[in-house]
Amino acid sequence: MDQHASDVLRPERKLINSPSPGRAASVLLVVLFCSFSLAQKNSAPADTIVLHGRIYTVDAKHPWAEAIAIRGDEIVAVGTDREILHYRGEATKVIDAQGHLVLPAFTDCHVHFMDGSTSLQHVALDDAKTVAEIEQRVKTYAAAHPKDLWILGRGWTYPVFAPSGLPDKKYLDEIVPDRPVYLEGFDGHTWWANSRALAEAHINKNTPDPPGGSFVRDPATGEPTGAVKEDAADAIVRRAIPEPSSAEKLQALRAGIKLANQFGLARVHVLGGVNAGRDDLQNVDLLEELRRNGELTLRFYLAYRLDPPEMTARQLEAIIQDQQRYHDDWIAAGSAKIFLDGVIETHTAAMLQPYSDDPRLTGELLWDPEKYKQFVAKLDHEGIQVFTHAIGDRAIRLALDAYEAAAEKNGMHDLRHRVEHIEDPSAADIPRFGKLGVIASMQPLHAYPDDDTLKSWAPNIGAERAQRGWPWYSIQAAGGVLAFGSDWPIVTLSPWPGLQNAVTRQTTEGEPKGGWIPAERISIADAIKGYTLNAAFAGHREKTEGSLQPGKLADLIVVSQDLFNIDPHKIGDTTVLLTMVGGRVVCRTKEF
Ligand SMILES: [Zn+2]
Repeated sequence: MDQHASDVLRPERKLINSPSPGRAASVLLVVLFCSFSLAQKNSAPADTIVLHGRIYTVDAKHPWAEAIAIRGDEIVAVGTDREILHYRGEATKVIDAQGHLVLPAFTDCHVHFMDGSTSLQHVALDDAKTVAEIEQRVKTYAAAHPKDLWILGRGWTYPVFAPSGLPDKKYLDEIVPDRPVYLEGFDGHTWWANSRALAEAHINKNTPDPPGGSFVRDPATGEPTGAVKEDAADAIVRRAIPEPSSAEKLQALRAGIKLANQFGLARVHVLGGVNAGRDDLQNVDLLEELRRNGELTLRFYLAYRLDPPEMTARQLEAIIQDQQRYHDDWIAAGSAKIFLDGVIETHTAAMLQPYSDDPRLTGELLWDPEKYKQFVAKLDHEGIQVFTHAIGDRAIRLALDAYEAAAEKNGMHDLRHRVEHIEDPSAADIPRFGKLGVIASMQPLHAYPDDDTLKSWAPNIGAERAQRGWPWYSIQAAGGVLAFGSDWPIVTLSPWPGLQNAVTRQTTEGEPKGGWIPAERISIADAIKGYTLNAAFAGHREKTEGSLQPGKLADLIVVSQDLFNIDPHKIGDTTVLLTMVGGRVVCRTKEF
C-alpha cells in the first residue's frame, strides 16, 4: 500500500522550533531506525479502523477516502475499505461510518474557554428579543438558585434596548432588588448591573471612570445607569464577585470540554479571559488535573493576555517559561494575546476615519502605537507568536505594521503572528496578510447578517467601509491564510452555524436575498479548511493535525449530513455523530 511509503516520511511531532543543525546526525539515525521499525509495525493490526465512510481528508493530494486505520493515537493508513481491511486483527475495533461524511476534527482558533465554561452554569440570555423576556429568564433563574450570592449571566444584545442601545439598572431592580445581578452583553464589551451590584462594588456618581472603560451615567444626575463599558467592568465590578472555587472551575471545565467534543472540536486556541484576572492560563493546573484523571479530551493552546500600558520583563519571562513548560499535543502555551481596540457596535474599534453616524468618534487604540510595536518586536525576537485583537481598520493596519517591522528587524521566519477578528480592514491592507504571512484569524458567525450587523455595525461605519466587512474571499484570494473560530462565549461554541455563514453570508431564513456582500463568500471546502488544516497551521500544528493523513493524530468526526451536497442554509443543523480525539472515541450520539 502506498501509505507505507509516506509513513517513512511522517513528520516528527514538535512545536515551532525545528532541530538545530548540530542535531541533524542524530535525527537521521532516528529516521533510519523509525523506517525500519515502521515496516514491522505496519504489518501489525490496527487498534481501530473506520470503514464505509465518505471521508473528506483535507489532504490536497488525496482528498477523498473510504476508510482509516488507527494505532494508538495516530492514523497509520487512509484508503479504500479493501485496503484498510488488511489492518483488521482480532482485537481491532471497527467503526462503521455507514456512508456518513467523515472530517478531521475541528479546531476553534478563538475561544475564551474558562469564561465560556463558567457561563454554561449561569443565565443564558442569547436570543432574548425583549426586555420582558430577559426579565423573565433572570427571575426564573434567581428563583431556582436561591443560594447564588450573585445572579450572573450573559448574552443580551444592544437592539433589545433601542433606541439607546444600552441597558438600565431599573429593569433588573424591578425583578431582583435584594441580590446583585450582573449580566454581560453578548460581545463581552458592555455589562449590565442592577443597583445592588453597583452598591456592592461601591460604584456611585463620585466613582471615576477607570482607564479604558466607563460607567454610563444619567446626564442629569450623574448617577451610574447600570451600563458598564469595557475595562470598567473588570476594574471594579467583577472584583466584588466571588471567585469560583477550584471544584466549581473543574466542574465548569468538564462541561465546556464535553460541549466542545459534542460539537466536533478536538482543539481550542484560548485567547485569555475576556476579563483579566480570570485568565485560563492561571487555571492550567486544572487542565493538568483533568489530564491526570484521563478526563482531558480536548487539546488546548493557551495565550497569555497582556494588558496596557506596559509589557513587563516579568511577563515576557512568564511567556517564555510557558513556552518551555507546555508544548505537547494536549496542553501548549507560550503565545501572547493583545487587545488593540474595541468593537464597531459601541464605536470603540479604532478607525482611520470618523464613524459615519457620529463624526466626533474614531474609536481609540488601547495601546500607545509605538509601545505596542516595540513589544511586538521583543516578543517576535523571542520566537513568541502574537495574537492581536484588531477590529477597526486603524487597529488592523497597526498590527500589520508592527508584524512587518518586527520581521524586518529580527529576521524571524514563520512565527505566524495573527490578527484576531479583522472585521473592517482598509482595502490597501487586505493583500498584506498573504504578503507578510500573517494569519487572518476570523469568526464567521460574527458576520451573521442579522439586526446587529445590518442595523448597528454597518450604519456605524457607513456603506463604503461596510462593503469590506469580514472580507474572507479577498484575503484568501490574496494568499492569506484564514483560520476560523467562534469567540465563544460571544457566540455559540458550535462551529456549524459559523461554517454555514462563511458559505452563505445569509441568515438561516435566507436574508438578505443574494447574500450580504456575496463576493466575500467562500466555498464549503475552503470553510472546512479554515476550521481544520488552516487552523492547525495557525497554531503550528499542521504537521500533526488538521487533515486525515498517515502520521497525523487520529482526531476525526463523523457528521450527520453530507455538507458538500446539501442546501447550504442547512449546514448549521449538522450534528456530530462521533468525535475521536487521539484515537479515542470521546463522544458518540445514540442514533449512530
Ligand atoms: Zn475574543
